[in-house]
Amino acid sequence: MIKDLAGAKAAEITAEFLIIGGGTVGLLTSVWLAEAGHKVVCLESGGFHQEEDEHPLNEVVHLKSVYSGAAHGRFRCIGGTSTRWGGALIPFQEADLKAAEWPISMRELDPFIPGIQAQFDLSGGDYDLPELSSPTHVARLAKWPPFKKRNVFNLLQEKARTLPNLEIWLNATATDFSVQDGLLRKVRARTVSGDELSVSADHIIIAAGAIETTRLALLMDFQNGEIVSRTSPALGRYFSDHLSVPVGEMVTRARAELNRHVGFRFESNGTMRNLRFELGQDADIRAAAPASFAHIAFETDGNGGFDVLRNIFRSLQKRRLPGASDILGLIRTAPWLIRAVWARFYGKRLLFPDGAKLPVHMVIEQEPSQENRISLSKNREDVFGKPLAEITWTVTDSDKANLTHAVDVFQAMWRKLPLSASTEFMRKPEGAAEGEMALGGGIYHPTGSTRMGRTPDEGVVDIDLRMFAVPNVRLLATSVLPTGGGANPTMMLLLLAARYVAQVSK
Ligand SMILES: Cc1cc2nc3c(=O)[nH]c(=O)nc-3n(C[C@H](O)[C@H](O)[C@H](O)COP(=O)(O)OP(=O)(O)OC[C@H]3O[C@@H](n4cnc5c(N)ncnc54)[C@H](O)[C@@H]3O)c2cc1C
Repeated sequence: MIKDLAGAKAAEITAEFLIIGGGTVGLLTSVWLAEAGHKVVCLESGGFHQEEDEHPLNEVVHLKSVYSGAAHGRFRCIGGTSTRWGGALIPFQEADLKAAEWPISMRELDPFIPGIQAQFDLSGGDYDLPELSSPTHVARLAKWPPFKKRNVFNLLQEKARTLPNLEIWLNATATDFSVQDGLLRKVRARTVSGDELSVSADHIIIAAGAIETTRLALLMDFQNGEIVSRTSPALGRYFSDHLSVPVGEMVTRARAELNRHVGFRFESNGTMRNLRFELGQDADIRAAAPASFAHIAFETDGNGGFDVLRNIFRSLQKRRLPGASDILGLIRTAPWLIRAVWARFYGKRLLFPDGAKLPVHMVIEQEPSQENRISLSKNREDVFGKPLAEITWTVTDSDKANLTHAVDVFQAMWRKLPLSASTEFMRKPEGAAEGEMALGGGIYHPTGSTRMGRTPDEGVVDIDLRMFAVPNVRLLATSVLPTGGGANPTMMLLLLAARYVAQVSK
């Protein structure tokens, strides 16, 4: 059942499970728990849509470099950031976790991969592609759902509306946390027009996205005598993101062959796959540099058939009708579209757009640093009178050196691949990519600021996502990942969520 707090004045309710955040992982977890028979309340700060590209409640204060993901990398509405995200799902490699001494291993998460794939109607089967792998790199293919299945509200709205033991409250922003005898007893949510909802629950899960989950944990700390930070000094610290930058370009005499090997692939059920070169599990470079991956993208002039198609599909993801200019664009770009349809259905590839450049992007894990952190502002507040998040974040010389190293080994690997006979990797001049990366602002993969640890000294949550300081609260956001790893992070978040639901639903 979906309710709106706006206009509801004041109410007080109880639940077995309270989930704060009805976004990508919060909505999925709410539905899974309700399907397992639990009584669930989910508080979502936004409404059915976020129209603008930025939301006023996502304002933060930047104390060093601007972390652009805070304004442009998160969305407040039911479905959250899944209303805009790319959708690439791929588990990390065990070596990513091991190298960074994560307290959990992939062995504990792998059993949940088939369930996540089924949830998004993704194909089964391996992620690795042995024919393009080498001693230093493993070629892997992420799995992307079709556009309209990327928004989790599109996937789950029937259940969200009808499950009798699930109550989702829209426009309900959690603002106050009341801890008594070491447990979180009550959470208060408010609307901007002054309506209030008080929820008491046995189990509380904060799934408000990495930055906001950290901010809410800091708020709980602030409102309850520093109960969290006294136990877990890592709270807010080690904030990091993947750093990504074009490091060169592929110049080819065999465009069709390159398209076939490295272009987006389609499987019969509509799953899209894209290729990336991650560090091999046993590659020597792992001792010298953090996880990274390279992928070959394409860069259009923004006006071709591919751009028109992408705009139309993105409208569907946002639950909107495509604009008239995009419909007319289909006619204007018909010659490319006809060839692209042929490539899609007969070659099972996404045709490189005509004239598009083929930049190589290197994505590296940022080194976790205590100095990169989220804290609460002492003088700036949101509309509810709560302190804004302050982000102290910057790219270090060591991150730049790691980029150089990652590109060196990628270049050496590429030169040994048979594909290099017809396609050359033209690297940018020395130092150019490193300089650009420092200004890049992250790529919307925030991690670390409520990190998982073995002990309260090491982390904020344990391997079951339980806060060391307030054990009836779980944190479910990419901020629990101790490091960024060698792939996009959301599959890892969904695996942690599925593991948690299995634990409490035995
Ligand atoms: C453009 C873009 C492309 C991306 N592509 C990929 C990709 O291809 N692969 C990948 O793995 N990752 C990708 N990501 C990252 C991915 O989108 C996130 O990791 C994922 O969506 C995080 O899910 P979440 O549930 O933690 O956060 P969200 O989906 O943002 O959900 C958080 C929810 O909490 C709500 N909320 C916040 N504060 C409160 C509060 N106080 N009270 C109540 N509710 C609150 C918000 O309104 C929101 O609905 C991409 C991100 C962006 C921006």
